[in-house]
Amino acid sequence: MSTAAVHPRRQSFSPFWSHRAAVAVIALAALSVLAGCPPKARGGQTLAVAEPTVLSTKPSVPMEALAYQLGMRLDNSGQYTASMKGKRNSLLVVGPPQPMALLNSERLDTSGEIGQSDGRLMVSPSLAHRLREKLRLAQGYAPAPPGAPPYLGNNPAHPQPPGAKPAPPAVAVAGPRVSGTVVIDPGHGGKDRGTYSATCGDEKALVLDVSQRIRTILTARGVHVIMTRDDDRFIELEERAEIANRARADLFVAIHADSAPKNTAARGCTVYTARGASAGSESLARRLDAALRPAAVEDRGLRHADYKVLVLTKMPAALIELGFFTNRSEAARLCQSSYRQELAEAIASGIIADLPARK
Ligand SMILES: [Zn+2]
Repeated sequence: MSTAAVHPRRQSFSPFWSHRAAVAVIALAALSVLAGCPPKARGGQTLAVAEPTVLSTKPSVPMEALAYQLGMRLDNSGQYTASMKGKRNSLLVVGPPQPMALLNSERLDTSGEIGQSDGRLMVSPSLAHRLREKLRLAQGYAPAPPGAPPYLGNNPAHPQPPGAKPAPPAVAVAGPRVSGTVVIDPGHGGKDRGTYSATCGDEKALVLDVSQRIRTILTARGVHVIMTRDDDRFIELEERAEIANRARADLFVAIHADSAPKNTAARGCTVYTARGASAGSESLARRLDAALRPAAVEDRGLRHADYKVLVLTKMPAALIELGFFTNRSEAARLCQSSYRQELAEAIASGIIADLPARK
């Protein structure tokens, strides 16, 4: 029944949603409770993900977040101007006193939607959304270009916000070769956006970006990696498990982002296995958890939930929630390519630790 989330009860209640959509979702949620619907995999109630209809016109989206939402790389960003580029698009943002946004040299109407806060240039969520709609091609979130330094966040041109941890050295790529087949399952895709954050965009794009980074690292170490999706497409949960079963994969790792609309302070990453999971799954989860501990904002530890992909896969399987879109500061971290790279490195290390070294 669930066409959408692996975690169908984790839809975010954004103030941007229309009243009607909110009522519909609440009604569906109530129905699922009345029907005694179990919370996780087994036949969760389908909740349509509503489009945000009224976005704020108040400047609140910093340039790093905007670049992320548009799938572009921030070339430079200061108090007065910022420029960013993607494969087929480029954007120049100029702040007051003569604010403007030039997308592919076309000037957009931006009255009052570009401003400064704490010495940083910002655009409104509404303008960010319009820019995204006008992109030449849906680009998704730009992965680091080949040959780029592994941590863009350490580049002086891409300053990290105060308080951000410096990224650790990239160790996972360089170690000895290992063998095995690993299925990486980026959650959601296509019509199923997953959870949504005004700062960070769609969960489906975030988890694809991190999954692709994990693949890059694992492939460099000799692992055969199969992705359940490598672009923005919808795949049923059963099919995801089937892909892994058909390939007789050694490990299955699903990547998601969390949402807790009623507890916006909730933060940190979580590693799930199914209830009563095999010793192999528990071992994989422990290694992932240990690897994520130093990298993540906070480690929420190992938990059990009967997510469909965990129940239906026949090999050791775990599902990682990277962090909470509903926590503002964590969403901002997740927007940074340096942090996503850090998470990908950690996850790849955990996977490698669970694979045999190549003879
Ligand atoms: Zn998800």
